[in-house]
Amino acid sequence: MGVSVEVLASGSRGNSTIVQSSSTRLLVDAGISCRETFKRMKAAGDDPHSLSAILITHEHADHVSGLLVLARKLKIPVFMTGTTHQAWSRALRDADGERPQLDRLEFFSSGHSFHIGDIAVMPFTIPHDAADPVGFTFRAEGMKVAIATDLGYMPASVRDQLRGCDLLVLESNHDLEMLRVGSYPWAVKQRVMSRVGHLSNSALAEFFSTDYDGHASYIVLAHLSEENNHPELARNAAEKALSGRRTLLHNRVLLAAQAEAMQPIRF
Ligand SMILES: [Zn+2]
Ligand SMILES: [Zn+2]
Repeated sequence: MGVSVEVLASGSRGNSTIVQSSSTRLLVDAGISCRETFKRMKAAGDDPHSLSAILITHEHADHVSGLLVLARKLKIPVFMTGTTHQAWSRALRDADGERPQLDRLEFFSSGHSFHIGDIAVMPFTIPHDAADPVGFTFRAEGMKVAIATDLGYMPASVRDQLRGCDLLVLESNHDLEMLRVGSYPWAVKQRVMSRVGHLSNSALAEFFSTDYDGHASYIVLAHLSEENNHPELARNAAEKALSGRRTLLHNRVLLAAQAEAMQPIRF
């Protein structure tokens, strides 16, 4: 079977991705409802009850809105940092008056790798306006996969984590010009553009044309804004920056979508 990655949903209305090896299947973020997660998995021929664990990047609603119901239904462990857990449970308590209970909760710390089944997970800090946000790399069966969305810019510490990856899922959130002239209130525009906001097409392109090692077979552009981006703008910016390095076998650019799951990428 090998390693595969399937982005179930990506964008400000919900994020969720499956990373799996032959024997372990991880759900990274639970930002769409349990029902929708099950629906999208079943449509791809996957059994939701075969998931091994849920990992959470940060407590923003578009990454956790389905978490409580999914964890209760599947009875599998949920992994997040202690600080993210505090922020998440505080937000739910403030909304419902009750602290949420997760039966199987496991804490990790940014910068400290751990194993779930045969997958080695490395969480790393990303610059974003959440309590303790992380991206992840996953290693199994000789392959390396990285997921890094929701970051205001790409610091050297993140660039380092992205070396040697076979598959990159990276944020290409907005086109700067569309954001500037778009309908968002000024305060929201400032937040998105800030060092703890979201990565623009041009900031990602800058990474591709400077620091990127060109190693990946696939690059998935993710967390695209529906308001301030267009899939073709994101694709063009990435492909232009990658220009000489795209071959049949390397650096194929794919787009993650909000409304439907991507075809699984298999190695
Ligand atoms: Zn976020
Ligand atoms: Zn997000």
